[in-house]
Amino acid sequence: MRTPFVAGNWKMNTTVGEAEELVVNMRDRLDAIEGVDRVLCPPFISLAPLHRILQGSSIRLCAQNMHFETKGAYTGEISPLMLGELCEFVILGHSERRMYFGETDEVVNRKVKAALAGTLTPILCIGEKLEENEAGRTGEVLKRQLTNALEGIEATDESRDSGRGGAAAEDLVVAYEPIWAIGTGKAATGEQAAATIGSVRGVLAGLWGEGTAQRVRILYGGSVTGANIEEFVSHPDIDGALVGGASLKAEDFLAIVGQTAKIR
Ligand code: PEP
Repeated sequence: MRTPFVAGNWKMNTTVGEAEELVVNMRDRLDAIEGVDRVLCPPFISLAPLHRILQGSSIRLCAQNMHFETKGAYTGEISPLMLGELCEFVILGHSERRMYFGETDEVVNRKVKAALAGTLTPILCIGEKLEENEAGRTGEVLKRQLTNALEGIEATDESRDSGRGGAAAEDLVVAYEPIWAIGTGKAATGEQAAATIGSVRGVLAGLWGEGTAQRVRILYGGSVTGANIEEFVSHPDIDGALVGGASLKAEDFLAIVGQTAKIR
């Protein structure tokens, strides 16, 4: 009942020219795959050119971050209002934002609210550090991150009422990304990820009710490749993947989306 979802987070990689080349290389072959939502998250400056290149394509665009204010004196920042013209999704709470840019749960909460108040659907990232995992604190950490990020947000809150065609809170996508698995080549096992995602869905059910929790897509992220995607998406609780490194290689990303379509 949940459409699988695969997003490629290019992080701070690709010039505009490289981004255009990569997307042109993948576009037609991705468009030929059915039954999976496919999303690309290039750097901010490539969103506008890719938006033009992708007119009529099934590939949807996502920003990697944003500010929570609509406009103002925030030098160097990008707002939900600006992004709303170019993309449908925004990654919020990525562990690299938390780790290198000091983003707290409170900031993530303000950003989730701002995205929904605009027209953007958040891909909300949560994940535990290695030491938290080893101390058996994964469940507690994820519950805190999710509860704080969604504080004050009801599942039915929506910006569609504003007439700007935005998302309802329950359309949000959650990405479970254990920090120890990101960019390390050491992915979680499918079993581990499925069990943790099951408990994340339980936390969502506590916040928004079981029916809504069953509709929210929850992805796994952390060293996903074409060679291991099957391990994750063969679990019915894992609705797809947030992919970093492997999304920068056309053949790998195509394999991940293609395998997801085949298995689900
Ligand atoms: C990410 O940064 O969201 C990620 C999952 O990266 P990688 O696939 O490279 O581990």
